[in-house]
Amino acid sequence: MSKGQRIVLASRPAGEPAPDNFRLEDYDIASPGEGQVLLRTIWLSLDPYMRGRMSDGPSYAAPVPIDGVMEGGTVCEVIESRSPSLAVGDIVLAHSGWQSHALVDGRGLRKIDPHLAPISTALGVLGMPGMTAYTGLLAIGNPQPGETVVVAAASGAVGSAVGQIAKIKGARAIGIAGGKDKCDYVVKELGFDACLDHRDADLAAQLKDACPKGIDVYFENVGGKVFEAVYPRLNNFARIPVCGLIADYNTIFGPDTPTPKWANSIMRAILVKRLTFRGFIVTDFAAMHGDFLRDMGQWVREGRVKYREFVTEGLASAPEAFIGLLRGANFGKQLVRIGPDRS
Ligand code: NDP
Repeated sequence: MSKGQRIVLASRPAGEPAPDNFRLEDYDIASPGEGQVLLRTIWLSLDPYMRGRMSDGPSYAAPVPIDGVMEGGTVCEVIESRSPSLAVGDIVLAHSGWQSHALVDGRGLRKIDPHLAPISTALGVLGMPGMTAYTGLLAIGNPQPGETVVVAAASGAVGSAVGQIAKIKGARAIGIAGGKDKCDYVVKELGFDACLDHRDADLAAQLKDACPKGIDVYFENVGGKVFEAVYPRLNNFARIPVCGLIADYNTIFGPDTPTPKWANSIMRAILVKRLTFRGFIVTDFAAMHGDFLRDMGQWVREGRVKYREFVTEGLASAPEAFIGLLRGANFGKQLVRIGPDRS
């Protein structure tokens, strides 16, 4: 029996994850039973939500159990099949986690056509992060021509798509990102109107200059200090799709955590400015998947939505790459190449 490799959750992190929260191990690769396929992982997606799966606090999804394989979206090749709908050589989108091979039920796997786009994009701009940007911005943010849309983590998988879709809809797009290189890319390559560095002490003053007519849509990816700088600039009837709060994913909250001093001021702003805050999980908008694939596929083919991938090599690189993602070390959609991409 041949051996595969996988990364399991060895222990739950307190605060920032560390390499010893993960363990790389070998396992026996079994053969498919009736209806199953054996997958060889080509691409593994690393996403901020995985930090939530490492903890066992209350969440919208179950945690990864201790000694369980780390969860994750993958693009894989079918290497053995006992499923009537899949053949050896097919490329599929799976959720088979941080491992080199996986035995899964053939139902529920979506085939990917390598002729339409590079197969890795099924984990990025044409996959879950792109869908998150498309649905959160259009269904909740509803940007109108001439309005101002602000998004943080603007060079990343979700934020980069948010700003480019906002531009397609005729809005102004203002990004916020960590460092000059990312900000330059967001403006020069992605076509945002401006991009501000959240590490600058005068972020609030820079936002005021960049958004002279205030902010109509704030796509929230980050929370923390970025939100504190943004919220005083929100216009009457502004919409705030609350997509992620990555600045706080490593923060330990407890019953004794003090309520921020500005919480009452936000409640007042919600009332007097009639603001709409709406949290969402991308799966809430599953009914928009067809529209997303049609529109985003066309925009990517036409070069109106650009994307950037940040690739590390080999399964063993995944823990450090994931820890880096939470610190902003990635520049674009974070992927791990687990095996050769021959598509
Ligand atoms: P990214 O590719 O954007 O990577 C994460 C980025 O977050 C980092 O590169 C870093 O960028 C930024 N960041 C990290 N810490 C901070 C901080 N303290 N302050 C400001 N920025 C910080 O990730 P994604 O595009 O995949 O995800 C973006 C957000 O969307 C996340 O919050 C994620 O949880 C959320 N999300 C939500 C979904 C949903 O269904 N609701 C689905 C998918 C994603 P920089 O260097 O620019 O600071």
